[in-house]
Amino acid sequence: MIDIKNISKWYGSFQVLTDCTTNIQKGEVVVVCGPSGSGKSTLIKTVNALEPFQKGDIVVDGVSIADPKTDLPKLRSRVGMVFQHFELFPHLSVTENLTLAQIKVLGRSADDAKTRGLKMLERVGLMAHKDKFPGQLSGGQQQRVAIARALSMDPIVMLFDEPTSALDPEMVGEVLDVMVQLANEGMTMMCVTHEMGFAKKVSNRVIFMDAGKIIEDCKKDEFFGNPDARSPRAKEFLSKIL
Ligand code: ADP
Ligand code: MG
Repeated sequence: MIDIKNISKWYGSFQVLTDCTTNIQKGEVVVVCGPSGSGKSTLIKTVNALEPFQKGDIVVDGVSIADPKTDLPKLRSRVGMVFQHFELFPHLSVTENLTLAQIKVLGRSADDAKTRGLKMLERVGLMAHKDKFPGQLSGGQQQRVAIARALSMDPIVMLFDEPTSALDPEMVGEVLDVMVQLANEGMTMMCVTHEMGFAKKVSNRVIFMDAGKIIEDCKKDEFFGNPDARSPRAKEFLSKIL
């Protein structure tokens, strides 16, 4: 589904990603972890072409991002992204937040967009809040709306960048529950998260990054099961986080 091939990226003279290669199969859940500043956000943003890269290529469902002929807005519309800060439109109701991009980007009718959006809102358990504004919801609820909004676009893959790290601790669980449910339903997911409970429960693979490089890319059981087989940096990271 996603083929990341030898990606390198620089900000000016600073190399933020060095020769990153991995792939994500359809239905796979891959967790990306690593210390702050290691390039996780940058890598995940290259996958839906929010960040350009100078070397390598990423192929999403057969479409090459490096190919200048590729329609990037179209590709982006098929890749759902959920950020740390929910980035809902504060002046729009929950329903309007759910329907706007469906209408503007996918060209759906207002009725179709509403039907689809509310179905996704139901899925994250927030139907009762459809007419509220983001400011009237808790952080956890806003993040669930953000997930419903991304799902309304019928994405072929969902990208998450630390979706729970800005939340109060008591709200982390409700967002992870939605993510676990999505994973169990077979959604292809790439998740930057330090929630190792989530990684252990539903991920297929764990990628560990350090200083812009993919240091580890292995099956979940391998990553958590045998710390001594891990690189010193991954071992140190795991000892701090587990
Ligand atoms: P992570 O998500 O793992 O914390 P990031 O991908 O956000 O890491 O950042 C990786 C590195 O790139 C950091 O050193 C960060 O300071 C740097 N960086 C991120 N965005 C920019 C930018 N727009 N310009 C320059 N440097 C950046
Ligand atoms: Mg980050």
